[in-house]
Amino acid sequence: MQFTPPLARLIEQFQKLPGIGPKSAQRMAFFVLGMNKDEVDEFAFAIVDAKEKVKNCSNCFHLSAQDPCEICRNEKRDPATLCVVSDSKDVVALERTREFKGRYHVLTGLISPLDGKGPDQLSIRELIARITEEEISEVILAINPTIEGDATVLYLKNLLKPSGVKVTRIAFGLPVGADLEYADDVTLTRAMEGRREV
Ligand code: ZN
Repeated sequence: MQFTPPLARLIEQFQKLPGIGPKSAQRMAFFVLGMNKDEVDEFAFAIVDAKEKVKNCSNCFHLSAQDPCEICRNEKRDPATLCVVSDSKDVVALERTREFKGRYHVLTGLISPLDGKGPDQLSIRELIARITEEEISEVILAINPTIEGDATVLYLKNLLKPSGVKVTRIAFGLPVGADLEYADDVTLTRAMEGRREV
């Protein structure tokens, strides 16, 4: 017995989401069918609207509906400290701690030879341009301690060395392989304070 085509299509779409298997996708599809028309419209609109309006900031690559993003435009932020992260989600996690007053650069991923992802597919060229053009004295690498994270840190460290800028990496009070995004605020704040030169 198969689901009627429109329902099967909806299940198929939910199954494309990360971590969602067939059972969860079915549950979500049935939940949507149980919502009223306004709720469903709002749900569908939010997906299309976010996709349409949210772009990478042309300066730091953080996801924002404005370009440059709110952080890049904020003149109270310290231009001398640049925090490099792999993902926009990490900017939000660090902003939540309210400790970091500098600016960010989002790499939009990590170097991962196994997935065929090299430095050219990341926003590294733009990072180098910023270090040349802006008055940056310290680059803080807030990058997860994973194989890909370590490979990226090593690459950036060698690349940034000739520029003379101080390069540090945040300390992790977390097990190796842990994810910055899921760290609690205290751990993240301590990690930032305990950064070391690489
Ligand atoms: Zn920005």
